[in-house]
Amino acid sequence: MQCERCGSEVYKYVVCDSCSKKICNDCMKSSKRITKTEKATICKDCWSDMKKRTKYKRAKKEVQQQRSYDRDDRFRGRR
Ligand SMILES: [Zn+2]
Ligand SMILES: [Zn+2]
Repeated sequence: MQCERCGSEVYKYVVCDSCSKKICNDCMKSSKRITKTEKATICKDCWSDMKKRTKYKRAKKEVQQQRSYDRDDRFRGRR
């Protein structure tokens, strides 16, 4: 298939979470794991968009907050 951003031929693509484009590795600016199954991906186009970049960076924060909350629950359970 073709990368929807640069048009180069790719056999494996990633999907940008902000624009939903199927992009190649070269067009992917950053990718990170949010949960065991979910991944956040942002393309170079969206990375230059401050709003989208902030949204991408925020995705991790929400998970970290959730994780610390889970830890609190477990701690409480031991007591
Ligand atoms: Zn590309
Ligand atoms: Zn994008």
